[in-house]
Amino acid sequence: MDAHGAIARISLAAIKHNLAQAKRLAPYAKVIAIVKANAYGHGDLKVAAALEDEADMFGVARFEEAQKLRAAGIRQPILLLSGFLNAKQLQACAHQQFHVCIHQFEQLALLETTPLSAPITVWLKIDTGMHRIGISPEQVDLALSRLSKIKQVIQPVNAMSHFARADEPKQRAITEAAITCFNQATHGKVNDRALCNSAGVLAFPKAHSDFIRPGIMLYGITPFSEQQGSDVGLRPAMDLVSSLIAIRQHSRGEPVGYAGTWVSPRDTRIGVIAIGYGDGYPRMAPSGTPVLINGRRYPLVGRVAMDMATVDLGPEGDEQVGDEVLLWGQGLPAEEIARHVNTIAYELVTRLTSRPRWEYIE
Ligand SMILES: *Cc1c(COP(=O)(O)O)cnc(C)c1O
Repeated sequence: MDAHGAIARISLAAIKHNLAQAKRLAPYAKVIAIVKANAYGHGDLKVAAALEDEADMFGVARFEEAQKLRAAGIRQPILLLSGFLNAKQLQACAHQQFHVCIHQFEQLALLETTPLSAPITVWLKIDTGMHRIGISPEQVDLALSRLSKIKQVIQPVNAMSHFARADEPKQRAITEAAITCFNQATHGKVNDRALCNSAGVLAFPKAHSDFIRPGIMLYGITPFSEQQGSDVGLRPAMDLVSSLIAIRQHSRGEPVGYAGTWVSPRDTRIGVIAIGYGDGYPRMAPSGTPVLINGRRYPLVGRVAMDMATVDLGPEGDEQVGDEVLLWGQGLPAEEIARHVNTIAYELVTRLTSRPRWEYIE
C-alpha cells in the first residue's frame, strides 16, 4: 500500500495552452493574465513564471499580491485591479511600477496630492452596470479632465470596466448595453481599453478591445455554468487527487459517517478517501457527488469530514487501499463538482487550504 494525502497537481502546460486559446479567440488584443488569489489556487508565482513570455501583463486584486510577484522577480507591468488604498501604497505602486486602477474620486485626490518617485500608469475603472466599484459614466469626463492635469500620471490614461453578467447566455442584452456604455464614455478619450473577463473573451468578440483580462479560463475552467472547459477548447490545469486509505465491508442498513446521513441500501464496500474540508474539499458535497478511481466514477456517501470522505465502491471490484482518487480535474470537470455543491468551480479551486501538496508538471 502506497497511500498519500491530497495533492493539487498543476499542469503548467495546460495553463499555457489555455492562454494560447485566449489569444486565438482574441488575436488582436494583448493579455493581462489574472493571477489574483494565488492564481485561483494554482500558485501565483509558478503560474506567473510559466506565463512570463506569453502574458503582456499580470493582474491581481491586492497590493500584497502585486508585491509578492515583484519580489519574486516578475518584470511585466502588474495591474492592481482595485487600486491603492492610501498615499503610502500609492507611492509604493509608483516605485514598483504597478499599474493602478482608479475607481473613485478619493483615489484621484490622492494622485493629485501625493508626490511619486516615478510616473504611474492609470486605468480608469468605469461602472457599466456591476455597481460595485467604478466611476459612473456621467463622471468620466470630469475624472479624465482631472487626470489629464496630473503631471506624474502617464498620459493619456487607460480605461477599463468589468462585466456583471457576461457569463449568462440569456442576458446578452445587459452585456451589450455595458459595452455600448463603455464605448460611449471612452471613445477617442483614452489610450488602451480593457473590458473582457473570460466570459467576455469567449462570448463577446466585439468587446475584445486593446487588452483582455482572462482569469478562470487560464485554469481550464469555463465561466458558463452549463458547460465545461473542454467545450471551449480549454484543458483543466488542476487535478485534485488523494488516495484510498481504507476499504471496509459494509452491511445493508448501516449508516456511514457523522450524523448517519446516508444508509446503505445493500451490502457493499465503503472506501475511505484522505480528503476533507481540512484540504478545502467542500463539506457541502452531498452524497452522490462523483469521484474517479482507476477511471471509473463512484459516488460519495455520507458527510465529508475534516480529514476523510467516504465513497460507495459497490459490492465487487478490484479497488485497493493506496489507489489514487481524483476529486476533480481531467475526466471529472471541477464545473461538474461545482454543480453538485451548488457553487462555481472558481470557488472550488480557489479555496483549497495549505494542507494539500502542490505538484507542478510542465
Ligand atoms: C477577477 C477579474 C477578472 C477575471 O475574471 P474571470 O471571470 O476569472 O475571467 C477580470 N477583471 C477583473 C476586474 C477581475 O476582478
